[in-house]
Amino acid sequence: MSMESTNKKATVSFVSLGCPKLLVDTEMMMGALNERGYDITFDTSRADIVVINTCSFLEVARRESFAVIDEFIKKKRIGRISRLFVAGCLPELMGQELDAMFPEVDGFVSLKEMANIVEIIESRPKSESISLGLRPHRLLSTASHTAYLKIADGCDNCCTYCLIPKIRGPLVSRSLESIIDEARRLAELGVLELNLIAQDVTAYGHDLPDAPRLPQLLKQLCDIDGIQWIRLLYAHPKGISDELIQTIARHEKVCKYIDMPIQHSENRMLKLMNRRVSRQDLVRLVSKLREAMPEIVLRTTVMVGFPGETEAEFEGLHEFVKTTMFDRLVAFTYSREDGTHAASMPEQVPKRVADDRNNSLLKLQAGISLERNSRLVGKEHEAIIDRVVRRGRGRSPTLIGRTRGQAPDVDGVLTLSGNMSAGEIVRAVITRAGYYDLHGRLAWKPGDLAAIQ
Ligand code: SF4
Repeated sequence: MSMESTNKKATVSFVSLGCPKLLVDTEMMMGALNERGYDITFDTSRADIVVINTCSFLEVARRESFAVIDEFIKKKRIGRISRLFVAGCLPELMGQELDAMFPEVDGFVSLKEMANIVEIIESRPKSESISLGLRPHRLLSTASHTAYLKIADGCDNCCTYCLIPKIRGPLVSRSLESIIDEARRLAELGVLELNLIAQDVTAYGHDLPDAPRLPQLLKQLCDIDGIQWIRLLYAHPKGISDELIQTIARHEKVCKYIDMPIQHSENRMLKLMNRRVSRQDLVRLVSKLREAMPEIVLRTTVMVGFPGETEAEFEGLHEFVKTTMFDRLVAFTYSREDGTHAASMPEQVPKRVADDRNNSLLKLQAGISLERNSRLVGKEHEAIIDRVVRRGRGRSPTLIGRTRGQAPDVDGVLTLSGNMSAGEIVRAVITRAGYYDLHGRLAWKPGDLAAIQ
């Protein structure tokens, strides 16, 4: 059992639920507390104070957040932890209601109040809302060679099923200088890979006075010594301009990878969702991306069971997925969220029908992913080593890594064996492909060629 003493800074642990965007908020709070002298641990059983950073995007995420809060309230009751704070999207969305649901929580920290985490923990004030500032110091929770870089928060796209603009507010982009500064600091700490995140990375800069745009930001990030891989996550298809495609294609450091959620392919559905693109736009975009970069890895998300989705529209989506052959695709069923426009739409699709459609797409995609991965067999790729698993005397360690086409946390991994360390970039030949993961052998490290010459 660990208890806070009055004359020593407490040990704080964080539980980060949800997506990488929330993880960056968690890292900012960890950095702020660490800077103030608090010990940060990833082991909640050693902590005096636990902060749960919550997600509330979907009903299922809210249920998970409630369950985790309950779990830590029980730990507080039996004295395993002394204080419990709940941060993030859930307090932002539910406000007082959450307070009433969980009176044993010591404090709620809305998204706007995260920058005040130290003050909130030290005095537990009902603080004034302030805009989310960027802490000068951030404590990474990911492997030390890779980091998420948040370039903006909030969203101005009004997709009719989505609560995020209500929870996170309108688009607020960080200044170009502050992003470059943070990227430089991360590079100095040994980060090789930056994964750019926002609710929609393509919207970056619209709201800033001099309107810097994503291509400009990418070019400046490429100039930072030490950064080797830059990856774009969460790009709304409507914002993927020709200039952005050319920038990705021309800059070696930018991974030929894009995560672009399409949600649907059928025009009536896209319109009802307010996605502001058409099926024809999507077809054109995919062919432009593949023309400019034949090796590009395309990841997408689609939603089935949106209100009014007919069998014919689902068939249209199924056919689109089959012919487009995304490398990775996540399908999920529409979740009716109170407060969204779509929640009041007629013709909600029965859950059983939506589940069947979802399963059918996932089955289709499994075969496509396997086929796309199989095309890589026999080819040489750059890979980053994330973890080394020792296998006993006389046996080479197993290396768990990723190619440039595999984003951390969401895509599969590349398994190799050899004597390398985490954080090294190597060349690997792919020898076997599965639905998600790849297997390979080491080819050579970039430095080896220079040594031979
Ligand atoms: S782009 Fe649409 S789905 Fe994504 S956060 Fe914005 S409103 Fe939500």
